[in-house]
Amino acid sequence: MTTTESSARFAAIPALDRLLRTAGMAALCEEFGRAEVVRALKADLGALRAAIGAGGVEPGAVAPNAIASRAAARLASRARPALRRVFNLTGTVLHTNLGRAPLAEEAIQAMAEVARGASSLEFDLERGRRGDRDSHVERLVTELSGAEAACVVNNNAAAVTLVLNTLANRRQVAVSRGELVEIGGAFRMPDIMARAGARLVEIGTTNRTHARDYAAAIGPATAMVMKVHCSNYRIEGFTASVAEAELAAIAHERGLPLFVDLGSGSLLDLARWGLPSEPTVGAALAAGADLVSFSGDKLLGGPQAGLIAGRADLIRRIKKNPLKRALRPGKMTIAALAATLALYRDPDRLAGRLPVLRLLTRPAGELEALGRLVGPALEAALAGAAKVELVASTAEIGSGALPVEPIDSRALRLVPASGRGSDLTRIAARLRGLPVPVIGYARNGALWLDLRTLDDEATFLGQLDGLLPEGTAEP
Ligand SMILES: *Cc1c(COP(=O)(O)O)cnc(C)c1O
Repeated sequence: MTTTESSARFAAIPALDRLLRTAGMAALCEEFGRAEVVRALKADLGALRAAIGAGGVEPGAVAPNAIASRAAARLASRARPALRRVFNLTGTVLHTNLGRAPLAEEAIQAMAEVARGASSLEFDLERGRRGDRDSHVERLVTELSGAEAACVVNNNAAAVTLVLNTLANRRQVAVSRGELVEIGGAFRMPDIMARAGARLVEIGTTNRTHARDYAAAIGPATAMVMKVHCSNYRIEGFTASVAEAELAAIAHERGLPLFVDLGSGSLLDLARWGLPSEPTVGAALAAGADLVSFSGDKLLGGPQAGLIAGRADLIRRIKKNPLKRALRPGKMTIAALAATLALYRDPDRLAGRLPVLRLLTRPAGELEALGRLVGPALEAALAGAAKVELVASTAEIGSGALPVEPIDSRALRLVPASGRGSDLTRIAARLRGLPVPVIGYARNGALWLDLRTLDDEATFLGQLDGLLPEGTAEP
């Protein structure tokens, strides 16, 4: 572009006032607010000036209609929330990065109900005086697990921290070397211990820990014995560990409590639904654990929360710790958690009402039927860019629960027609760019979309039109 051309373009840029009077602007102001429309127009004009300065702008780009339509696109993109619903087709049912457990309708309704206005969060309606926010969850947890008492915090990491800080501040906690877990990201047992003020005493070896190892290590500075469930790994081969009942006896003989971090934990034995067993809260307490902690949004299928259940005297001390105040959950979490727990009163209907359990127990035949419905539509929408096959796959529960126990599943396998990795990357990006982004996983030169967690095929199919823009169909 010559200097004269660029001067002409600068001169042709319409004034903001005039732009605000162009067709369609009133409707945009109505939808997004005038201030936001002005912001979008100014941003576009700024970008336009920079582009003219850099020397690459078509005459049409400065036309009021062109500016208005770019501003409209900018407004729509700014209005889209950053935290959005997605299709989790990763094969990991409880995916931490994708928000873990989908909630039951009952939990969603309970949340909406308390979100809208005032609630009895800390108000005792019977006595007409101040109440306890833990009570809503506590009565259900005790009923369902046999615990004497319970309380709730923001997540299981907080629960573990709070238990350690309350019962073992500046004192020792005995844990087997085979159980010093790291649960993705920043949860590493030795670090949590240190932050909670407890001194870790490592017991036994990585693969073998015996009762006599605990007995030898326990001394006057020991505050408690802790057992951590190996959520995301398994030690195999020449191994030995001490079961809860025996460990409880060792601790109790010395007047110490046993605390078990169950990780996911489960209120009912999943074997009932043909799933691999996770230790249950009730079984750990029955075996002699004085306290257990577990997550609300892993296998329990509720909102992000951490539950602590066990002896009433210990729960009372935990509730008095000032840290408890800092770690307490809000009313929506408590509402969703209580509604989720209430579903466990009726185990016969649980698999139909609790999405986590429903997804985990979907039969292969259902997934195949889904794949036969969705696969061809997806292949058609990809317009030759990729071949789509329905294949056997393995899913996992995720979030550390039973990663060593694969679950039989079915997936759509997308193989780019060109065989090029760059095309695979492009297709994955297009799927992420849909109104409800679709997240799969890449393996062996293909993109896999696991069907176990696809439960709104109408929305999935309804948005496929937007998958490939004009001109990208040819690989
Ligand atoms: C997942 C897990 C945690 C952390 O729980 P969050 O709810 O994610 O904070 C702690 N301990 C174990 C054994 C776990 O599996």
